[in-house]
Amino acid sequence: MTEQPPRPEELPPPAAALFPERATRERIDDLLTRALALAQQRVLAGSVTPTLQRERLHQQLAAFDFETPLPLEQLIAWTIEQLEHGVVHMTHPRYFGLFNPAPNFPAQCADRISGAFNPQLASSGSSPAPVAIEAHVIRALALRAGLPARSSGHFTTAGSEANYTALVCALTRASSRYGTEGIRAFSGAPVFYASRECQPGWFKIAHQAGVGRAGLRLVATDGSGRMASAALAEAIARDRERGAVPILIAATAGTTGAGMIDPLSECAAIAQDHGIWYHVDAAWGGAALSSERLRGLLAGIERADSVTIDAHKWFATTMGCGMFITRHPQVLSEAFRVTTDFMPSNVATLDPYLNSAQWSRRFLGLRLFLALAAAGWAGYGAHVERAVRVIGEIAQRLRACGWRVANDPQLAVLCLTPPAGSAAPREIARRVLASGRAWIAVTTFEGREVVRICATHGEISMADVQLLVAALEAACGRVAESGSG
Ligand SMILES: *Cc1c(COP(=O)(O)O)cnc(C)c1O
Repeated sequence: MTEQPPRPEELPPPAAALFPERATRERIDDLLTRALALAQQRVLAGSVTPTLQRERLHQQLAAFDFETPLPLEQLIAWTIEQLEHGVVHMTHPRYFGLFNPAPNFPAQCADRISGAFNPQLASSGSSPAPVAIEAHVIRALALRAGLPARSSGHFTTAGSEANYTALVCALTRASSRYGTEGIRAFSGAPVFYASRECQPGWFKIAHQAGVGRAGLRLVATDGSGRMASAALAEAIARDRERGAVPILIAATAGTTGAGMIDPLSECAAIAQDHGIWYHVDAAWGGAALSSERLRGLLAGIERADSVTIDAHKWFATTMGCGMFITRHPQVLSEAFRVTTDFMPSNVATLDPYLNSAQWSRRFLGLRLFLALAAAGWAGYGAHVERAVRVIGEIAQRLRACGWRVANDPQLAVLCLTPPAGSAAPREIARRVLASGRAWIAVTTFEGREVVRICATHGEISMADVQLLVAALEAACGRVAESGSG
């Protein structure tokens, strides 16, 4: 008996829970939109810090054995509840936090569009429009930073991937044999330089890239949180004498701890003298380029061989959305080259899979494209300047209460020493977090523990500023505390 090929109508129906019919999708979509809006209202009125009962969550999670399918509506409601109570709320205007933003609305729209079409951004063959849109945004950022028009780059998962790419590019340019032989291609140990205030992700990058953690030279700062350029020059000279091979200088434009900007032009000159790759890690601070008033603070960035900027920090897109920008597109093509016969295109100068660490990739760049197109540079400039103003208002009020500003807050990070007789910064932060009224951090700035406040949210009000100041004053322990704080 010969088997008949199955006719289409004999195929089993699509998995309904995964691919529901249109009417069901639209109903759940509407429900989701409304549920999220309501949750957001409750978040704004509630605690910035998590109020989750961990024990209960773990019990509920244990009950998900994935044997019995559950209705999606019920799952969505459960998930929103967990997020409502189980995260530090970046969308709360009193999250004076790390650089994690309340996402801007165009970026959220972009995520919906990307999720609906789910384009594969690896190749220009499968996604000609998205690849062109991303390249356009990258070029706009490069030009804004003052890099030449031939510059290129790509969107990355985040700043860490972009910084990793910088080191790989630097190694690739430093020796034509690096790609084949790895660091054995060098006559001595490859080393690279960042200030001791640099983002510690550089250690992981050194580890992954085969340079080793000892290959990262932490250069002294000058007492104000900026890399001391004389110390940098000395460190390079010393390494050369010892037979090590300096590969890269990574200046930070907006340190994670205090928002300080390394002397970018001096670092550029040193890199040039030694023929070393010059990278500027502007993961957070790069957004200052959008402000006419503030962009001058980043002078010297235009001399960089490469730049990292995170759109998911001060540009306030959804996470994670980094950018790697370089004036040497050919080095990218050399570092990430590969040959295949299965990809829909093989354009060495264009295809993201031939010029970046990722292969499959999401359409991340749409977030910044929509936001930048909707707000313009001026809109983003106003957003950035507003944050600097917020920091100025907080600093002024706290100074009046006897606090001292430890850093020079030109951007939107404030490092504070509490008044004499107060609790230690770590204890103050603990109390503020426990009160749920605001989220702040503690860091070490130039060897001293400080309270760290960043204007992360784009909609902070003067009432929020006052509430933060009151929470800090209460947490100092100099004045009578209200409530359980
Ligand atoms: C945030 C940050 C990083 C790390 O970037 P991710 O996006 O978190 O991977 C690196 N450098 C600086 C200066 C940063 O602020």
